[in-house]
Amino acid sequence: MSELVISNLHVEVETESGPKEILKGVNLTVATGEVHAIMGPNGSGKSTLAYSIAGHPKYTITSGSVTLDGVELTELSVDQRAKAGLFLAMQYPIEVPGVSVANFLRTAKTALSGEAPKVRTWVKDVNAALEKVGLDGTFAARSLNEGFSGGEKKRNEIAQLELLAPKFAILDETDSGLDIDALRIVSEGVNRFTEAGDRGVLLITHYTRILNYIKPDFVHVFVDGRIVEEGGAELADQLEISGYDKFVQAAKVDA
Ligand code: ADP
Ligand code: MG
Ligand code: MG
Repeated sequence: MSELVISNLHVEVETESGPKEILKGVNLTVATGEVHAIMGPNGSGKSTLAYSIAGHPKYTITSGSVTLDGVELTELSVDQRAKAGLFLAMQYPIEVPGVSVANFLRTAKTALSGEAPKVRTWVKDVNAALEKVGLDGTFAARSLNEGFSGGEKKRNEIAQLELLAPKFAILDETDSGLDIDALRIVSEGVNRFTEAGDRGVLLITHYTRILNYIKPDFVHVFVDGRIVEEGGAELADQLEISGYDKFVQAAKVDA
């Protein structure tokens, strides 16, 4: 078993009027074998949490730590974090003109494993992974994310997840902008990933609908840069009925 441990994480960003604290002490432990859902309203800092764990330079960690099996990730480069077993599916994946999906995957796999995958089996693996998410063979030749529809971006990320097989996947609003078929395909991909072995998932969303397909072991309500409530899958059902307002009001009183 592996563990991703986030302790008392404080993060700020630089704004025109000076530094602004976005994460105000986040504590969360994700073990492999577990699916954790982070749910919270727009602007509560969910993407900031994802980017901070992944090592985006825009976010400054002012205190706290993020460790993977005891290794301090915050001192590692983005590449080193990936090598340690971390994968981030971004809410808005970047477009990389001139780099094909196939080449990107091969480069990423090579960087992770330290050796280039064998061409023949790799092409087969890539095609199989794309096919599972409903993308055909010609997709591998397209420039990464360039002109991809919202659904294609998310399907492609799930194919990446399958091929790169990280220990921990952080999926930031993987469900946003998906129609019902794409939502089901993407969810099935996440479920295959978690069932394939010793893996953990941090699923960030503000909708409860993806949780009809992916059953979280734990649900964390995220408001104003903190986790304000924790529970099991039933907490998501409660949010579906009552929304975030109760938690937002309580966070205001505490602030
Ligand atoms: P969420 O993903 O939950 O919608 P974000 O992490 O994207 O929230 O943003 C949290 C808060 O941080 C928002 O109020 C947002 O405006 C602010 N924020 C994020 N990045 C910056 C930035 N570079 N400059 C100023 N404010 C920022
Ligand atoms: Mg489980
Ligand atoms: Mg976000």
